Amino acid sequence: MTIGAAFDATVARLPEREALVVRHQGLRYSWRELAEVVERHARALLALGIESGDRLGIWAPNCAEWCITQFASAKIGAILVNINPAYRSSELEYALKQSGCRWVICADAFKTSDYHAMLLGLVPELADAEPGRLQCERLPELRGVVSLAANPPAAFLSWASLQASAASVPVEALAERQASLQFDDPINIQYTSGTTGFPKGATLSHYNILNNGYMVGESLGLTEHDRLVIPVPLYHCFGMVMGNLGCVTHGSTMIYPSDAFDPLTTLQTVAEEKATALYGVPTMFIAELDHPRRGEFDLSSLRTGIMAGATCPIEVMRRVIREMHMSEVQIAYGMTETSPVSLQTGPEDELELRVTTVGRTQPQLESKIVDSDGRIVPRGTIGELCTRGYSVMLGYWNNPQATADAIDPGRWMHTGDLASMDDNGYVCIVGRSKDMIIRGGENIYPRELEEFFFTHPAVADVQVIGIPCERYGEEIVAWVMLHPGHELGEEQLRAWARERIAHFKVPRHFHFVDGFPMTVTGKIQKFRMREISIERLA
Ligand code: ATP
Ligand code: MG
Repeated sequence: MTIGAAFDATVARLPEREALVVRHQGLRYSWRELAEVVERHARALLALGIESGDRLGIWAPNCAEWCITQFASAKIGAILVNINPAYRSSELEYALKQSGCRWVICADAFKTSDYHAMLLGLVPELADAEPGRLQCERLPELRGVVSLAANPPAAFLSWASLQASAASVPVEALAERQASLQFDDPINIQYTSGTTGFPKGATLSHYNILNNGYMVGESLGLTEHDRLVIPVPLYHCFGMVMGNLGCVTHGSTMIYPSDAFDPLTTLQTVAEEKATALYGVPTMFIAELDHPRRGEFDLSSLRTGIMAGATCPIEVMRRVIREMHMSEVQIAYGMTETSPVSLQTGPEDELELRVTTVGRTQPQLESKIVDSDGRIVPRGTIGELCTRGYSVMLGYWNNPQATADAIDPGRWMHTGDLASMDDNGYVCIVGRSKDMIIRGGENIYPRELEEFFFTHPAVADVQVIGIPCERYGEEIVAWVMLHPGHELGEEQLRAWARERIAHFKVPRHFHFVDGFPMTVTGKIQKFRMREISIERLA
C-alpha cells in the first residue's frame, strides 16, 4: 500500500471526524476537509510539472501546509525532502544540492532566520526568473520556490497562486499518477539529526515509513478516539512518521500546538484539546514537568505517549507517569535510517521494564548485538545494536559509500549505538559508541553517570562527556543544570560523588550551565559540548 492509499482509506472511513488541529494557525480540518486541500495541492504540484521521483523540498516549522504537502507529495510520488527549520544558508545549500530538489516550499521566516533573504542570497537568479524557469549554476536542478507568506516578493510563487493552478489539472490525472506508484518507491529523504556531526540523508520508501507509523500506533493502541499532541518537529521522523503517519493509519487526530516547541503552549494544548497522547524527547518532558505553571492545566485526559530520541532518564519517566497522568507512556528507540522505530516497550510491560529498558524488537523486525568482529555477544553483554527488516532505509541518498558502511551485505543496519539485551529480549541502550569514554583503559558509559547524578536533589539535568587527556587518554566532564533556587558548588558535588561511586568515574571537571547545545529536535550535541569543554579548559 502507498501512503496516498492509506490516507484515502482513512478519509473514506472517518470523513467527519477531526483529522488535524493547528493551534497556532487557528485551523481545524475533518478528514474530508483535509482530503480536499491535500488533493488540490497534489493537483497543483502536478501543474508545476513535478514527476514521480522528483525531489520536493519543504523548509518550514510545524504548520498545516507541512502536513498537506506531506500527503500531497506522497500522492504524486514526489520525494519529499525534509529541510531542518534551523538550517542557515550553507546547510540549506548542502541539502538542496545533495538531494537535487526541483522545487522548494518554504516559510518566509522562522525565529531569527529570514528564509526569503537566505534563499535570495543563495540563488540571486531567483529574482529575475519566472517561477518554474529558474536556471541556476549553483543548484542546477532547482526550478523555483513556493512561499507560504501571504504576499511574498515576486521571486517566489505564492502558496495561494499555486493552489489556484490546481484547476488546470483534471482529477483523473491525479488518480492516474497515484495508481502508477509502487509501495517500495522512495518517497522521502530525511536528514538525520546531526547529533554526532553532519546530517546524512536517509532515503525511505512508502513501505518503510507507512508500516513504521502503523506499528507505532498499534503499540500505543491508537484509535479514532485518540487525540495526539505533536510538539516535536515534523521535519523529523518523530513528527512526520510516528506522529502524522501513526495518526493517519489509525484515524487519530493530529494536534500541533505551536510552530516550535514551547512547554507552556504544549501543556495548554493538552488541557484545552483534551488530548489522550503526547510525544516528546526527554528534554521536552523535563521542561513541561518543571514549568512553574504546570499545575494550572488539567492533564488528566492523557493516557499514553512516547518519549524517545535520546536516553530517557528513569526519574523523568517516573514523573511523567505520576505527574502527567501518562500511565501507559512508552519508550521507543530508533533512528532515521530505520524509519525510525525498531524497539518499543509495550502496553503490557511492567513499569520497571518501561523505565529501565527501551523494550523489545518491534514485530517484523530483527535485532542483534555484536562485538567489534561482528559476532553476536552473550545476553547481558554490551555491544553494537544492529537492526534488520522492513523498516531499514533504501540507503543514504547519493552516498553509496556511507550506505555500505552502515548496512552490511546481510542487510543489517549498524546503529552505532551500544546496547545489551536480556534473556527476554529487552534491550538497554547504553549510549552511542562515539560517546563512550575510555579513561585509563576503563570503559565508562556516560548514561550510567548521568543516571547517578540525576539522583542528586539539586540536579535538574546532566550530561557527561569525555575529552582528550594525555595521562588517561580521556577525562570525564559533567555539565550540570541545577533546579531553580538550588546552589551547589563543584567541590560539594565532587565530594558527594566520591562517597558513592568508584573514584575513576568521578568527573574531573564540572561545568554548571543553563542549557546544552542542541539540535532543533531537542537532542543534545555531545560533539559540540566536547569542543566547548576542550576550549574552556585549554
Ligand atoms: P546523526 O546520525 O546525524 O548524528 P542522530 O543519530 O541523533 O543524528 P536520529 O536518527 O534522529 O539522528 O537519531 C537516532 C539516534 O537517537 C539513535 O542512534 C540513538 O543514539 C538515539 N536514540 C533514539 N531513541 C533513543 C532512546 N530511546 N534511548 C537512547 N537513545 C536513543
Ligand atoms: Mg545517527
